[in-house]
Amino acid sequence: MPELPEVQALVEFLRSRTEGLVVTGVELGSISVLKTFTPPPQALVGAPVDGVSRHGKFLDIDCGGTHLVFHLARAGWLRWSDAMPATVLRPGKSPIALRVRFDDASGFDLTEAGTKKRLAAYVVNDPATVPGIASLGPDPMAHGFTLEVFAAIAASHRMQVKGMLRDQSIIAGVGNAYSDEVLHVAKLSPFAIAGKLGDAEVERLYAALRGTLAGAVAAASGKPAKELKDAKRAGMRVHGRTGEICPECGDVVREVSFADSSLQYCATCQTGGKPLADRRTSKFLK
Ligand SMILES: [Zn+2]
Repeated sequence: MPELPEVQALVEFLRSRTEGLVVTGVELGSISVLKTFTPPPQALVGAPVDGVSRHGKFLDIDCGGTHLVFHLARAGWLRWSDAMPATVLRPGKSPIALRVRFDDASGFDLTEAGTKKRLAAYVVNDPATVPGIASLGPDPMAHGFTLEVFAAIAASHRMQVKGMLRDQSIIAGVGNAYSDEVLHVAKLSPFAIAGKLGDAEVERLYAALRGTLAGAVAAASGKPAKELKDAKRAGMRVHGRTGEICPECGDVVREVSFADSSLQYCATCQTGGKPLADRRTSKFLK
């Protein structure tokens, strides 16, 4: 799933490609991808691209005051083409959920692999009316996201820090992958309770959050859309690296279940050498 750094890079990529272009077509490959009824997608046709921006993990293309907003979810992606196929996309079993065309024959498809369709698109006059955007917490890369702001957030949440980092209504843009990375850099257990962290731990977590995201944004910036997924994977220290060697200490990267998926961490770096108990597994063993 693309997270803040990849979505930011997609924003920059789309900005550079669509500057001065006019939307000439919007086609739906899946009716369910569009979550809004008015304005209709055809309201975008004939409109100039006035801007591309990001709200958390949502992309927002401003077309003459009508916004096409989308969230790529777990298996969604954006595929850019300098020369789009002429065939009109029709609703069906295609992995292409939405197609947008521009007046120089370029365009993009939003695709989604797998059977669980979570990719969501919205055509709105005001992006703040998209439910997922209205409820977003602060952006961790914003200027105003200071240590004081973050410390207040942490202090007010009696929940596991892994869950806090990836809750979009608390902090916008961080998901399963970067929360693993941030916690590894901060040398904190993913199961530590946010509200109980000491001042030094909060400071370390804040620095790790900002530093990890800034590094990933810099690494992703300027890369074409099709290279972002591999670049994200290649930059990971522990996330998705179960059984590999921790780059900090040489211990093995471990995995434990968390919420609807799993997380990766290093016991030596993060949990005082003690592997975390997998609640799902241990329930079976009892
Ligand atoms: Zn380690």
